[in-house]
Amino acid sequence: VAVIARRALEALSGPFLDPTGDLSFTASIGIAVTANPHADAGELLIQADVAMYEAKSAGRNCFRIYDPDRHAPEATWQDFGSSLRKAIEEGQLFVVYQPLFSLEDRSLRGAEALVRWRHPQQGVVLPADFIPLAEERGLIDLVDTFVLDEACRQLAEWLGTGQVPPDFTIAVNLSARRLTDPSLAGRVASALERHGLPPSHLCIEMTEASLIGRLQDAELALGALSQMGVRLALDDFGTCSTLSYLRRLKVDMLKVDRHFVDQIANGRNRDVIASIAAIAHALGMAAVGVGIERESQMVALAATGYDQGQGFFLAEPLLPEHLPALCSPDLPPGGGGPAARVRPRFRVG
Ligand code: C2E
Ligand code: MG
Repeated sequence: VAVIARRALEALSGPFLDPTGDLSFTASIGIAVTANPHADAGELLIQADVAMYEAKSAGRNCFRIYDPDRHAPEATWQDFGSSLRKAIEEGQLFVVYQPLFSLEDRSLRGAEALVRWRHPQQGVVLPADFIPLAEERGLIDLVDTFVLDEACRQLAEWLGTGQVPPDFTIAVNLSARRLTDPSLAGRVASALERHGLPPSHLCIEMTEASLIGRLQDAELALGALSQMGVRLALDDFGTCSTLSYLRRLKVDMLKVDRHFVDQIANGRNRDVIASIAAIAHALGMAAVGVGIERESQMVALAATGYDQGQGFFLAEPLLPEHLPALCSPDLPPGGGGPAARVRPRFRVG
């Protein structure tokens, strides 16, 4: 299967349709293999999905094979629903925060809440290893509701004790399913109310791909959020074409897909990347570069008009107690970036 996967990746690397070769595609392939002729096709698809999310987390344009020893063994996940509920009740789920910086002055602007599962047998499990399964089994609401509440609680604590700047925002990822949930705005409003937070401090992130096929229903739910004053960000932007909906959805932030950030430092696709920033600005949105792993990428993004940035070079996801330290104005000048201080010590998961 590895040979076939490599061939598929090669074949998909194009160029397609576009003879100049400026349009490139990448694929993330997840593979599940079984020798059992009676294997359940649905389970296999879930396993392939888990492997595919791992390929995405590993930087995309690669393949991963589901490994029952390394990934959640089906036996462990057999009663996934009750173990997830138990995990939430017993505090096994926790949230780390990846800081978001201004690319102009490197000040801390906000953070993205990213969920982790401290599993009693498997150690810290990354979202790629349980979010797809939670989505598949209709349990993602449990996770998203927990993360929303916890992120609001944490932000209220930081703001209340003056540990973060007064305009600090927290971003929470929303799964595709929630986008069309008519009770979404009400649930977000009650989380904000419970923790006494003004809506403008919260940013809801959805991926561009998750909007495909549900744009019209999503418009209602997201419109209600936007009317409340909650900010919206479109993640992994540039992979699909939702351009015509950008204005209607009242998105505040475009987070350009990580594979563009990979390319920018060597000049590839610079015009496409610059156009995304120009589109964002023309529509009154902030342009954000994510997955910044090198200084050259950060410099190129700033030079191309990007406003804010996030990535391992700047800071990895942090436990909440470590984030306020990044608010001090004495960030190392130029090169090092704030990551110089935080990367090795606080990485979680
Ligand atoms: P995302 O929204 O694109 O989140 C950013 C992911 O990129 C995070 O992975 C982060 O650790 C990783 N990342 C950040 N900087 C860099 C970098 O410089 N290089 C590389 N290679 N990766 C970087 P993480 O935490 O494993 O999350 C993966 C995905 O899982 C997220 O992608 C998001 O879609 C989803 N997710 C995380 N938390 C939640 C949640 O509470 N609810 C839902 N529905 N999805 C979540
Ligand atoms: Mg995100």
